Amino acid sequence: MVLKTDAGGQGGSQIVSASEVKARAVGAYLGCAVGDALGATVEFMTPREIQAHYGTHNAIRGGGWLKLKRGQVTDDTTMALALGRSILAAGRVDAHAAAQAFDSWMRAKPIDIGHTVRRGIIHFRRTGESCVPENEYDAGNGACMRTLPVVLATYGMDTMQVQTASRAQAHVTHNNHLSDAGTECVISMVQAALDGVTITRLLHGPVRELVTALPDFRFRGRRRDNPSAFIVETLQAVFQALFDTDTFEDCLVDVVNRGGDADTTGAIAGMIAGALYGSDTIPRRWLKALDREVYDACRDQALALLALSPRYTQC
Ligand code: MN
Ligand code: MN
Repeated sequence: MVLKTDAGGQGGSQIVSASEVKARAVGAYLGCAVGDALGATVEFMTPREIQAHYGTHNAIRGGGWLKLKRGQVTDDTTMALALGRSILAAGRVDAHAAAQAFDSWMRAKPIDIGHTVRRGIIHFRRTGESCVPENEYDAGNGACMRTLPVVLATYGMDTMQVQTASRAQAHVTHNNHLSDAGTECVISMVQAALDGVTITRLLHGPVRELVTALPDFRFRGRRRDNPSAFIVETLQAVFQALFDTDTFEDCLVDVVNRGGDADTTGAIAGMIAGALYGSDTIPRRWLKALDREVYDACRDQALALLALSPRYTQC
């Protein structure tokens, strides 16, 4: 089975094998989980503190402010898995189903939860509304960090359909134009990477479009260390790490050693680099360290969500 993509650009199409797309989708999901588990150890530390404690932090070892077990993941991965289950149950991305999934997720007492996420879920509990009011201050990275199930389920849909699906899940907690634009850029990047495009095409395609439309996201110049949970800082760190390295491992080590919101920069860089370089480039020692249940859930969801997508079911 083959998938026709437009990765060749300008009308030229490139043939990617279905098994390659599957491997990239699994790579994206495991990449997200591995990045979360790796980065969580150094979340909220500065690069200097990380250097003093670990030298270069490049092992999944648990610990950190959450006192994680080795291989344990945080809200970034567990929210993505909750969203993915809701998409699989509903057969599509549905705002109400996503809100219910996040509500159950919060009831199960997750080890960490962002302020904006908590407020959005409480809004849903009180009002039954699966969309928070627009807010210029809710430009956190919480909608972006859990977006991977949308990437996979909408693979092959047109831009407007992808945008609608992205905002349906995002606006349960984050209704903000910078969050929307950053999240949709990440979705485009991962979908293009599933198509087999080069890293240069990601830079000259979705990333250039984002920084042209919203110059706040420009990322060349000063090194972005200590990225906060602000979507702009988060993506600046991710873009610098991604475009200044050429392997999955180097990208992830680069981004988490910047400290700050390191589990989330790790998760986002992990999903992009995992799709770009493929699951077999993720260091084996990291995959082995990852919690077994999480590993299985990520792999199974990646394949099930991809099977829902229009590009995949066309074949
Ligand atoms: Mn987290
Ligand atoms: Mn985080």
